[in-house]
Amino acid sequence: MRTAVSQLQLLEPKSLKDALAMMRDERPTPLAGCTDVYVNLNFGTAPQKRFLNLWSLEELRKIQLRGKILSIGALATYSQLVGSPLVRRCLPILAAAAREVGGIQIQNRGTIGGNIVNASPAGDTLPVLAVAEATLLLQRAAGKRRVAFGDFYTGYRQTVMLPDELLVAVEIPALSGRQWFRKVGTRAAQAISKIVMAGIRNDRPRVALGSVAPTVVRLPRTESLLAAGRPLEDAKRTLLEEIRPIDDIRSTADYRRRVAANLLEQFWRETS
Ligand SMILES: Cc1cc2nc3c(=O)[nH]c(=O)nc-3n(C[C@H](O)[C@H](O)[C@H](O)COP(=O)(O)OP(=O)(O)OC[C@H]3O[C@@H](n4cnc5c(N)ncnc54)[C@H](O)[C@@H]3O)c2cc1C
Repeated sequence: MRTAVSQLQLLEPKSLKDALAMMRDERPTPLAGCTDVYVNLNFGTAPQKRFLNLWSLEELRKIQLRGKILSIGALATYSQLVGSPLVRRCLPILAAAAREVGGIQIQNRGTIGGNIVNASPAGDTLPVLAVAEATLLLQRAAGKRRVAFGDFYTGYRQTVMLPDELLVAVEIPALSGRQWFRKVGTRAAQAISKIVMAGIRNDRPRVALGSVAPTVVRLPRTESLLAAGRPLEDAKRTLLEEIRPIDDIRSTADYRRRVAANLLEQFWRETS
Protein backbone atom coordinates (compact mmCIF):
# COMPACT_ATOMS: atom_id res chain seq x y z
CA MET A 1 0.00 0.00 0.00
CA ARG A 2 1.19 3.51 -0.79
CA THR A 3 2.83 5.37 2.11
CA ALA A 4 0.46 8.07 3.41
CA VAL A 5 2.31 11.30 2.69
CA SER A 6 0.44 13.11 5.48
CA GLN A 7 2.41 11.04 8.02
CA LEU A 8 5.77 12.17 6.66
CA GLN A 9 7.86 15.11 7.75
CA LEU A 10 9.92 17.14 5.27
CA LEU A 11 12.77 19.31 6.52
CA GLU A 12 13.71 22.25 4.27
CA PRO A 13 17.30 23.44 4.84
CA LYS A 14 18.27 26.87 3.47
CA SER A 15 21.98 26.03 3.05
CA LEU A 16 24.41 23.11 3.16
CA LYS A 17 25.38 24.17 6.70
CA ASP A 18 21.74 24.06 7.72
CA ALA A 19 21.33 20.64 6.09
CA LEU A 20 24.37 19.21 7.89
CA ALA A 21 23.06 20.48 11.24
CA MET A 22 19.70 18.80 10.54
CA MET A 23 21.48 15.56 9.60
CA ARG A 24 23.37 15.72 12.91
CA ASP A 25 20.39 16.57 15.09
CA GLU A 26 17.47 14.74 13.46
CA ARG A 27 18.97 12.01 11.22
CA PRO A 28 16.47 12.48 8.37
CA THR A 29 16.74 10.63 5.04
CA PRO A 30 18.15 12.96 2.38
CA LEU A 31 16.05 13.55 -0.73
CA ALA A 32 17.64 14.74 -3.96
CA GLY A 33 15.53 14.19 -7.10
CA CYS A 34 13.42 11.61 -5.21
CA THR A 35 13.22 9.30 -8.25
CA ASP A 36 14.44 6.28 -6.26
CA VAL A 37 12.89 7.21 -2.92
CA TYR A 38 9.50 7.85 -4.49
CA VAL A 39 9.35 4.33 -5.90
CA ASN A 40 9.65 2.99 -2.33
CA LEU A 41 7.06 5.45 -1.03
CA ASN A 42 4.74 4.42 -3.81
CA PHE A 43 5.08 0.74 -2.91
CA GLY A 44 4.78 1.53 0.82
CA THR A 45 8.20 -0.02 1.45
CA ALA A 46 10.01 3.10 2.72
CA PRO A 47 10.31 2.77 6.52
CA GLN A 48 11.51 6.38 6.97
CA LYS A 49 9.16 9.09 8.21
CA ARG A 50 11.44 12.12 8.19
CA PHE A 51 13.12 13.48 5.04
CA LEU A 52 15.52 16.29 4.23
CA ASN A 53 14.91 18.10 0.96
CA LEU A 54 18.27 18.91 -0.67
CA TRP A 55 16.77 20.04 -3.98
CA SER A 56 17.11 23.81 -3.43
CA LEU A 57 20.78 23.70 -2.40
CA GLU A 58 22.35 25.23 -5.53
CA GLU A 59 25.82 24.95 -3.99
CA LEU A 60 25.60 21.17 -4.47
CA ARG A 61 24.76 21.46 -8.16
CA LYS A 62 27.95 23.00 -9.60
CA ILE A 63 30.11 21.33 -12.23
CA GLN A 64 33.56 22.93 -12.31
CA LEU A 65 37.27 22.34 -12.91
CA ARG A 66 39.47 22.72 -9.84
CA GLY A 67 42.98 22.59 -11.27
CA LYS A 68 42.94 19.31 -13.16
CA ILE A 69 40.09 17.82 -11.12
CA LEU A 70 36.57 17.83 -12.53
CA SER A 71 34.26 18.43 -9.55
CA ILE A 72 30.60 17.49 -9.99
CA GLY A 73 28.14 18.51 -7.28
CA ALA A 74 26.08 15.63 -5.90
CA LEU A 75 22.85 17.34 -6.98
CA ALA A 76 23.88 17.62 -10.65
CA THR A 77 21.10 16.06 -12.69
CA TYR A 78 21.55 13.77 -15.68
CA SER A 79 20.33 16.60 -17.93
CA GLN A 80 23.05 18.83 -16.53
CA LEU A 81 25.69 16.13 -17.13
CA VAL A 82 24.53 15.66 -20.73
CA GLY A 83 24.59 19.42 -21.34
CA SER A 84 27.90 20.17 -19.61
CA PRO A 85 30.83 20.99 -21.97
CA LEU A 86 33.23 20.12 -19.12
CA VAL A 87 31.74 16.66 -18.62
CA ARG A 88 31.64 16.05 -22.36
CA ARG A 89 35.31 17.03 -22.67
CA CYS A 90 36.78 15.34 -19.56
CA LEU A 91 34.53 12.31 -19.11
CA PRO A 92 32.35 11.85 -22.21
CA ILE A 93 31.27 8.38 -21.04
CA LEU A 94 29.53 10.01 -18.07
CA ALA A 95 27.47 12.14 -20.46
CA ALA A 96 26.81 8.98 -22.51
CA ALA A 97 25.61 7.08 -19.43
CA ALA A 98 23.43 10.02 -18.32
CA ARG A 99 21.82 10.17 -21.76
CA GLU A 100 20.63 6.57 -21.34
CA VAL A 101 19.16 6.87 -17.86
CA GLY A 102 15.34 6.55 -17.69
CA GLY A 103 13.63 9.11 -19.91
CA ILE A 104 13.74 12.91 -20.07
CA GLN A 105 11.66 13.33 -16.90
CA ILE A 106 14.03 11.13 -14.87
CA GLN A 107 17.04 12.87 -16.41
CA ASN A 108 15.64 16.25 -15.31
CA ARG A 109 15.16 15.12 -11.68
CA GLY A 110 17.56 12.23 -11.06
CA THR A 111 20.98 13.20 -9.68
CA ILE A 112 24.42 11.66 -9.82
CA GLY A 113 24.54 11.71 -6.00
CA GLY A 114 21.26 9.80 -5.77
CA ASN A 115 22.56 7.18 -8.22
CA ILE A 116 25.72 6.69 -6.14
CA VAL A 117 24.13 6.61 -2.68
CA ASN A 118 21.18 4.49 -3.78
CA ALA A 119 23.89 1.85 -4.32
CA SER A 120 22.05 -0.32 -6.83
CA PRO A 121 24.50 -2.60 -8.67
CA ALA A 122 22.61 -1.58 -11.84
CA GLY A 123 23.23 2.18 -11.46
CA ASP A 124 24.39 3.40 -14.86
CA THR A 125 26.91 5.99 -13.72
CA LEU A 126 28.71 3.61 -11.36
CA PRO A 127 30.93 1.69 -13.84
CA VAL A 128 31.95 5.05 -15.31
CA LEU A 129 32.98 6.40 -11.90
CA ALA A 130 34.78 3.12 -11.16
CA VAL A 131 36.99 3.29 -14.26
CA ALA A 132 37.51 7.02 -13.80
CA GLU A 133 38.80 6.22 -10.27
CA ALA A 134 36.62 8.99 -8.88
CA THR A 135 36.81 10.28 -5.32
CA LEU A 136 33.66 10.99 -3.31
CA LEU A 137 33.55 14.05 -1.07
CA LEU A 138 31.45 13.30 2.02
CA GLN A 139 30.52 15.91 4.60
CA ARG A 140 28.93 15.99 8.04
CA ALA A 141 28.63 18.80 10.57
CA ALA A 142 31.89 17.62 12.18
CA GLY A 143 33.91 17.82 8.94
CA LYS A 144 34.70 16.46 5.48
CA ARG A 145 36.39 13.32 4.20
CA ARG A 146 37.27 11.88 0.82
CA VAL A 147 36.62 8.24 -0.05
CA ALA A 148 37.96 6.50 -3.15
CA PHE A 149 35.04 5.29 -5.25
CA GLY A 150 36.50 1.77 -5.14
CA ASP A 151 36.20 1.77 -1.33
CA PHE A 152 32.68 3.20 -1.12
CA TYR A 153 30.54 0.05 -1.45
CA THR A 154 30.88 -2.68 1.16
CA GLY A 155 28.15 -5.05 -0.06
CA TYR A 156 24.74 -5.17 -1.73
CA ARG A 157 23.26 -1.69 -1.18
CA GLN A 158 25.80 -1.06 1.60
CA THR A 159 28.18 1.88 1.71
CA VAL A 160 30.72 3.36 4.14
CA MET A 161 28.54 6.47 4.65
CA LEU A 162 27.76 7.48 8.22
CA PRO A 163 24.12 8.20 9.16
CA ASP A 164 24.73 11.96 9.45
CA GLU A 165 26.80 12.31 6.28
CA LEU A 166 25.88 13.81 2.92
CA LEU A 167 27.55 13.17 -0.39
CA VAL A 168 28.62 16.61 -1.51
CA ALA A 169 30.60 16.11 -4.72
CA VAL A 170 32.25 13.63 -7.03
CA GLU A 171 35.83 14.40 -8.07
CA ILE A 172 37.26 13.05 -11.33
CA PRO A 173 41.03 13.10 -11.93
CA ALA A 174 42.47 13.99 -15.33
CA LEU A 175 42.20 10.93 -17.60
CA SER A 176 44.11 9.85 -20.67
CA GLY A 177 43.22 7.26 -23.30
CA ARG A 178 40.05 6.24 -25.06
CA GLN A 179 36.80 5.96 -23.10
CA TRP A 180 34.04 3.47 -23.83
CA PHE A 181 30.52 2.89 -22.41
CA ARG A 182 27.72 0.48 -23.27
CA LYS A 183 24.41 -0.22 -21.55
CA VAL A 184 22.39 -3.29 -22.47
CA GLY A 185 18.73 -3.07 -21.50
CA THR A 186 15.35 -4.12 -22.80
CA ARG A 187 14.77 -0.81 -24.60
CA ALA A 188 16.73 2.33 -25.42
CA ALA A 189 14.83 4.31 -22.73
CA GLN A 190 13.09 3.64 -19.41
CA ALA A 191 14.98 0.39 -18.92
CA ILE A 192 17.24 -0.54 -16.02
CA SER A 193 20.44 -2.20 -17.24
CA LYS A 194 20.64 -5.94 -17.70
CA ILE A 195 24.35 -5.26 -17.87
CA VAL A 196 26.42 -2.09 -18.17
CA MET A 197 30.13 -1.69 -18.90
CA ALA A 198 32.61 1.17 -18.94
CA GLY A 199 36.21 1.00 -20.06
CA ILE A 200 39.25 3.22 -20.46
CA ARG A 201 42.02 2.14 -22.78
CA ASN A 202 45.51 3.43 -22.17
CA ASP A 203 48.71 1.76 -20.92
CA ARG A 204 46.72 0.74 -17.82
CA PRO A 205 43.39 -0.48 -19.23
CA ARG A 206 40.43 -0.32 -16.86
CA VAL A 207 37.12 -2.16 -17.08
CA ALA A 208 34.08 -2.01 -14.78
CA LEU A 209 30.74 -3.78 -14.94
CA GLY A 210 27.35 -3.21 -13.35
CA SER A 211 24.57 -5.77 -12.75
CA VAL A 212 26.97 -8.73 -12.52
CA ALA A 213 27.67 -8.79 -8.75
CA PRO A 214 26.25 -7.32 -5.51
CA THR A 215 28.11 -4.07 -6.24
CA VAL A 216 29.64 -2.50 -9.33
CA VAL A 217 32.97 -4.26 -9.97
CA ARG A 218 36.36 -3.51 -11.48
CA LEU A 219 38.07 -6.50 -13.10
CA PRO A 220 41.72 -6.35 -11.97
CA ARG A 221 42.84 -9.70 -13.39
CA THR A 222 41.19 -9.08 -16.74
CA GLU A 223 42.75 -5.61 -16.81
CA SER A 224 46.24 -7.06 -16.17
CA LEU A 225 45.89 -9.47 -19.07
CA LEU A 226 44.81 -6.65 -21.38
CA ALA A 227 47.73 -4.51 -20.20
CA ALA A 228 50.14 -7.39 -20.85
CA GLY A 229 48.87 -7.77 -24.42
CA ARG A 230 47.62 -11.32 -23.81
CA PRO A 231 45.08 -12.78 -26.29
CA LEU A 232 41.58 -11.38 -25.92
CA GLU A 233 40.17 -14.89 -25.46
CA ASP A 234 42.26 -15.24 -22.25
CA ALA A 235 40.92 -11.90 -20.99
CA LYS A 236 37.32 -12.95 -21.76
CA ARG A 237 37.78 -16.23 -19.86
CA THR A 238 39.23 -14.39 -16.89
CA LEU A 239 36.39 -11.85 -16.94
CA LEU A 240 33.96 -14.74 -16.51
CA GLU A 241 35.85 -15.83 -13.38
CA GLU A 242 35.70 -12.32 -11.96
CA ILE A 243 31.94 -11.73 -12.14
CA ARG A 244 29.07 -13.28 -10.17
CA PRO A 245 25.85 -12.55 -12.07
CA ILE A 246 22.50 -13.85 -10.86
CA ASP A 247 19.11 -14.65 -12.40
CA ASP A 248 16.57 -11.91 -11.63
CA ILE A 249 13.52 -10.24 -13.15
CA ARG A 250 15.61 -8.42 -15.73
CA SER A 251 17.82 -11.19 -17.05
CA THR A 252 19.56 -14.50 -16.39
CA ALA A 253 23.04 -15.17 -15.10
CA ASP A 254 23.88 -17.04 -18.28
CA TYR A 255 22.81 -14.15 -20.55
CA ARG A 256 24.78 -11.70 -18.42
CA ARG A 257 27.93 -13.84 -18.62
CA ARG A 258 27.74 -14.12 -22.40
CA VAL A 259 27.01 -10.45 -22.92
CA ALA A 260 29.75 -9.36 -20.50
CA ALA A 261 32.36 -11.32 -22.48
CA ASN A 262 31.00 -9.93 -25.76
CA LEU A 263 31.12 -6.39 -24.39
CA LEU A 264 34.76 -6.81 -23.44
CA GLU A 265 35.50 -7.83 -27.01
CA GLN A 266 33.52 -4.89 -28.37
CA PHE A 267 35.32 -2.46 -26.04
CA TRP A 268 38.73 -3.76 -27.11
CA ARG A 269 37.92 -3.79 -30.83
CA GLU A 270 36.33 -0.33 -30.89
CA THR A 271 39.16 1.33 -28.97
CA SER A 272 42.04 -0.27 -30.87
C1 LIG B 1 11.20 5.39 -14.21
C2 LIG B 1 12.60 5.30 -13.65
C3 LIG B 1 13.64 4.99 -14.53
C4 LIG B 1 14.94 4.87 -14.03
N1 LIG B 1 15.94 4.56 -14.91
C5 LIG B 1 17.21 4.44 -14.46
C6 LIG B 1 18.27 4.09 -15.36
O1 LIG B 1 18.07 3.89 -16.55
N2 LIG B 1 19.52 3.97 -14.84
C7 LIG B 1 19.79 4.19 -13.52
O2 LIG B 1 20.96 4.08 -13.12
N3 LIG B 1 18.81 4.54 -12.65
C8 LIG B 1 17.55 4.66 -13.09
N4 LIG B 1 16.53 5.00 -12.21
C9 LIG B 1 16.85 5.20 -10.80
C10 LIG B 1 17.06 6.68 -10.37
O3 LIG B 1 16.45 7.58 -11.24
C11 LIG B 1 18.56 7.04 -10.26
O4 LIG B 1 19.22 6.14 -9.37
C12 LIG B 1 18.75 8.49 -9.78
O5 LIG B 1 20.07 8.89 -10.05
C13 LIG B 1 18.46 8.70 -8.31
O6 LIG B 1 18.72 10.06 -8.03
P1 LIG B 1 17.72 10.94 -7.15
O7 LIG B 1 18.33 12.28 -7.06
O8 LIG B 1 16.34 10.86 -7.68
O9 LIG B 1 17.85 10.15 -5.76
P2 LIG B 1 16.80 10.09 -4.55
O10 LIG B 1 15.66 9.19 -4.91
O11 LIG B 1 16.46 11.45 -4.07
O12 LIG B 1 17.74 9.37 -3.47
C14 LIG B 1 18.24 8.07 -3.67
C15 LIG B 1 19.01 7.63 -2.42
O13 LIG B 1 20.20 8.41 -2.27
C16 LIG B 1 20.17 9.15 -1.06
N5 LIG B 1 20.78 10.45 -1.40
C17 LIG B 1 20.49 11.19 -2.51
N6 LIG B 1 21.32 12.25 -2.58
C18 LIG B 1 22.13 12.18 -1.51
C19 LIG B 1 23.20 12.98 -1.03
N7 LIG B 1 23.65 14.06 -1.69
N8 LIG B 1 23.82 12.61 0.11
C20 LIG B 1 23.41 11.51 0.79
N9 LIG B 1 22.41 10.72 0.40
C21 LIG B 1 21.79 11.05 -0.75
C22 LIG B 1 18.74 9.19 -0.61
O14 LIG B 1 18.62 9.30 0.78
C23 LIG B 1 18.25 7.84 -1.12
O15 LIG B 1 18.64 6.83 -0.22
C24 LIG B 1 15.21 5.10 -12.66
C25 LIG B 1 14.16 5.44 -11.79
C26 LIG B 1 12.87 5.53 -12.28
C27 LIG B 1 11.76 5.90 -11.32
